[in-house]
Amino acid sequence: MRIFSGIQPTGRKHLGNYIGAIRQYVDGQDRGDPAIYCIVDLHAITVAYDPGELRERVLDTTAILIAAGLDPARCILFRQGDVQEHTELTWLLSSVTELGRLNRMHQFRDKSVAQRELVSAGLLMYPVLMAADVLAYRAHEVPVGEDQREHLEVMRDIAERFNSRYGEDVLVVPEQRTPEVGARVRDLQEPERKMSTTGSSELGTIYVLEEPDAIVRKFKRAVTDSGTEIRRAPDKPGVSNLIEILAVARGTSPEEVEASLADARGYGDLKAAVAEAVVEWLAPVRERYAELRGDEAALEGILAAGAEKARAMASETLADVRWVMGVGPAR
Ligand code: ATP
Ligand code: MG
Repeated sequence: MRIFSGIQPTGRKHLGNYIGAIRQYVDGQDRGDPAIYCIVDLHAITVAYDPGELRERVLDTTAILIAAGLDPARCILFRQGDVQEHTELTWLLSSVTELGRLNRMHQFRDKSVAQRELVSAGLLMYPVLMAADVLAYRAHEVPVGEDQREHLEVMRDIAERFNSRYGEDVLVVPEQRTPEVGARVRDLQEPERKMSTTGSSELGTIYVLEEPDAIVRKFKRAVTDSGTEIRRAPDKPGVSNLIEILAVARGTSPEEVEASLADARGYGDLKAAVAEAVVEWLAPVRERYAELRGDEAALEGILAAGAEKARAMASETLADVRWVMGVGPAR
């Protein structure tokens, strides 16, 4: 079972990223053979960004992932831009990608309206690069949040079209893996929306590296509803979100959380409980991050070693893809 997932470079990873993706990465180390995780600097350049900061943000994310429990000895952790096979495969796969489909992607539509200066072709091609990331490793499983469903569909279509045109079994058609609880963590202020790096409110977003006081304050002000019952329901997205977050932070189930709060006096008790549990859960990550982030040479060393392993795998796939496509000399 090969596992692959990518994550954007930023020091402002939020609780949605942590619960929906990073927590699954850590588990994947025991199941993946191998588990491959990539910090996607090439995806980050598809919207306005600061070149001077990009390298720093890659190191921030590397340190967060290791602090969260990724062990470079048990997984392959690398920077996307270090493995050129990703970009070559993107071009090759673009020939079996339907343009209209890219145009209709929700992320493309949402992110293109947010751009002030330029809607780049890179933003349109984003899903093809993401397909190349995964398909280059012939990964079976992609641990991500629920919001990635559309990207996974496009990726699977690309793999299927490639295989039917150039020969079955060249590429592996991957499956999405989302956690049972916490696949879509919601913004604390606007629980109809997902918690997100771009386009969610500061007050509604809990960051992995945030100070305990701020975390407590944000949970205290979380939007709930006018009732008092602590149980999950479709018309109670705010309360349901808090229950799910608490379950994950405590390592129990939402049912157990509901039972444990059966005698609570109201939503205040729920908010206090979730704040306390999240502060306690994230504290060791924050401490380890501070230790790791200072040693940039060590972080770069980990990424370089990861890139070497990744390149060895991706170059095998590329050799096969080039061959069946008729690109380059006979082998
Ligand atoms: P952006 O808003 O710019 O797309 P993001 O917050 O979605 O950023 P990404 O780096 O795109 O962050 O996502 C990293 C991983 O976190 C992905 O696997 C994504 O599915 C997951 N994820 C993002 N937001 C949530 C959320 N609210 N709940 C659960 N998983 C999430
Ligand atoms: Mg996203």
